[in-house]
Amino acid sequence: MKRIAVFPGSFDPITTGHMNIIGRALPLFDELIIAIGNNSEKKYFFPMEKRKAWLESLFTKEKKIKVAGYSGLTVKFCGSIKAAYIVRGIRTAADFEFERSIAQMNKAMAPDIETVFILAEPAYSAVASTIVRDIIRNGGDASAFVPPGINLQKA
Ligand code: ADP
Repeated sequence: MKRIAVFPGSFDPITTGHMNIIGRALPLFDELIIAIGNNSEKKYFFPMEKRKAWLESLFTKEKKIKVAGYSGLTVKFCGSIKAAYIVRGIRTAADFEFERSIAQMNKAMAPDIETVFILAEPAYSAVASTIVRDIIRNGGDASAFVPPGINLQKA
């Protein structure tokens, strides 16, 4: 059976930290779906179309990667595309606590789906979309924290 994994997130915007997790998750699976969550309760900085277009442009050449948008429960989305793995990155103890409860709830709802945690490499453990957004809001240059070719100006 094909090993299909979902890497869910807001990717608002995609950062070098996300790229590092994607690169390290890729050899573990046959297919990696980068899934952009659309939570109606959440206000995003960049529109879904933009976040999706960035991801698509970054991975056009990588056959194992697909990009999708989804709303609702991550485990339901996984079920709909037959993905048995959820990939999440862990930077800090706070990430761990947050991710632990989500993963345990997901496991209770969908016992066949495993969450796979990948620890941030030290060089990326401080990189966060939240900080990138703060830099942009305050007129700074955040280009070092996003992959090359991502134009943060055209928000
Ligand atoms: P969410 O809103 O679901 O947290 P994010 O786009 O912020 O979405 O993050 C998606 C995933 O990527 C999460 O598992 C997060 O912990 C992980 N992540 C984000 N930045 C990094 C980083 N610098 N290193 C490792 N993992 C990261």
